[in-house]
Amino acid sequence: MKVSVILLAAGEGKRFGQKKQFVKLKGEPLFQYSLNTINKIDLIQEIILVLPEEDIERIKVFSFKNVVKIPGGKERQDSVYNGLKAVSNPDIVVVHDSARPFATEKMFIDSIMNVKKGWDGSITAFQVKDTIKMVKNNQVVKTLNRDELINVQTPQSFKFEKLIEVHEKARKENIYGTDDAYLMERFGYKITVNRGSILNFKITAKEDLVLAECLVRGKKPF
Ligand code: C5P
Repeated sequence: MKVSVILLAAGEGKRFGQKKQFVKLKGEPLFQYSLNTINKIDLIQEIILVLPEEDIERIKVFSFKNVVKIPGGKERQDSVYNGLKAVSNPDIVVVHDSARPFATEKMFIDSIMNVKKGWDGSITAFQVKDTIKMVKNNQVVKTLNRDELINVQTPQSFKFEKLIEVHEKARKENIYGTDDAYLMERFGYKITVNRGSILNFKITAKEDLVLAECLVRGKKPF
């Protein structure tokens, strides 16, 4: 079975204030961490690195596996779609945010194996630990049942034919989701969960980078 990875690194970093995928963590740009992990996984044959168009030429990648650099789109979903157009007809496609440098080999492998076993998709996630409430205009509306909630991350793996089909449909109907599994769920496909970790956090704000620095350098954050 052929497995391709779409590694997303085409964000503009609006919330972060700069393109976080290129921020250096212990000397290496953030996206390189995911590439290093993917390189160790024999199950993966192809890597598509999605970058901002203006950075494609200048960005150097270090990889034993071949990496194809392509331009991203306006939204994350558009970048995934560009990736789906660029892969060479795999059976399984894995989507991963380069803003999550600490995704483990096991997360990738578990996710891929669930699809190999027959699921349409498998998402990396962990059980919500905090109490989650809905608020409107600063007033609590309701408390959600924590036992039924998971915190969703990447990598996320899917049957390629099905993921491209739902992306095409979503484009026609102008549906946008914050992850790919949402589109699959919307169109009736069956998604399961593989074990994630709080350490697989997404670097979104500057404080996340502080935490990441502590992890790679073994320092205490406070
Ligand atoms: O913005 P957010 O943190 O949700 O982005 C998640 C991932 O998607 C990041 O790795 C970012 O680089 C990528 N992305 C992208 N193309 C976009 C927007 C985000 O590849 N247009």
